[in-house]
Amino acid sequence: MDVTIFSTKPFDRRFLSAAAGTRHRLTFLEAHLTADTVPLARGAGAICPFVNDQVDEKVLTELAALGVRLVALRSAGFNNVDLAAAKRLGITIARVPAYSPEAVSEYTVALILALDRNLHRAYARVREGNFSLDGLMGFNLAGRTVGIVGTGRIGAGVARIMKSFGCRIVAHDLTPNPACVADGVTYMSLAELLPISDIVSLHCPLLPSTRHMIDKATIATLKHGMMLINTSRGGLIETTDVIEALKAGTIAQLGLDVYEEEGDLFFEDLSDQVIRDDVFSRLLTFPNVLITGHQAFFTVEALTAIAETTMANLTAFETTGHALHEVT
Ligand code: NAD
Repeated sequence: MDVTIFSTKPFDRRFLSAAAGTRHRLTFLEAHLTADTVPLARGAGAICPFVNDQVDEKVLTELAALGVRLVALRSAGFNNVDLAAAKRLGITIARVPAYSPEAVSEYTVALILALDRNLHRAYARVREGNFSLDGLMGFNLAGRTVGIVGTGRIGAGVARIMKSFGCRIVAHDLTPNPACVADGVTYMSLAELLPISDIVSLHCPLLPSTRHMIDKATIATLKHGMMLINTSRGGLIETTDVIEALKAGTIAQLGLDVYEEEGDLFFEDLSDQVIRDDVFSRLLTFPNVLITGHQAFFTVEALTAIAETTMANLTAFETTGHALHEVT
């Protein structure tokens, strides 16, 4: 099958080429998928976008006109896809539902530990010959209450690891995860979870119902001095409200691997450019904010699994007319 792959980096090419073997003919593009770049898919039966590619109605209409029948996402999340438009146009959407939840769970815990013990500040200080401990004091995780919002594959992994530190785990989900219940996790409403959690970690998908679930109204119910972690999707939090909460001390530590407007920033080297996003720039000024550029998934195991599942989606679609993991 001829496949046009958007938003690729050298590591994507390495892992996808290895998984494709000689079965599929891959064309790698650095360009993001947008209404302007969609003509580059001409001649392909399938395209393969990444998290910040636009798969909206306009792009899908053009893809359909070009004869593209399959959009094989290299991600679990599909909030960037207009599913209704895809269905109407007869384009199948496939994804990689669970490439390596451990990669994201473990990274989430890395953010919690780094923020708690100020590793990001200590690293810079020691390199400058500054061995002062002022401002680096952390807190023991043992005995703290961790609130997990969304206990699917990733959230359940975070719950398991944090429990091993001696934390009390409370959770909110539409459907409790039986493995978490068996492990002693206490389920409750979001309204009950937020005021009692020392650390709140977000692991639910971005949906119209979850967009800005952390905003001025819910921030007002947070425990003063808490830590907020988001490795899920940037749109779960209203960033300007979170900035006010950082200024007020309600949120004492913030760890982000995702940002609502990350599409203009992440995955690119912008180090010689002026960042025009004033909200993002303000976040960078806080010593108690640790931001990384959507790298929680970035492990050898995850990239191998993404490449293999993507190829399995393409092969199944080519042979049966149905991808292995279709989004309906
Ligand atoms: P999953 O589908 O296994 O779990 C999501 C859970 O959220 C489910 O249990 C679901 O019931 C729950 N949920 C849905 N709506 C909810 C709501 N309103 N309130 C509370 N819970 C709700 O997904 P997963 O594999 O655990 O991934 C979680 C999220 O992590 C994904 O949606 C994706 O956006 C994000 N992610 C980020 C990275 C990264 O590199 N930073 C990588 C992979 C996934």
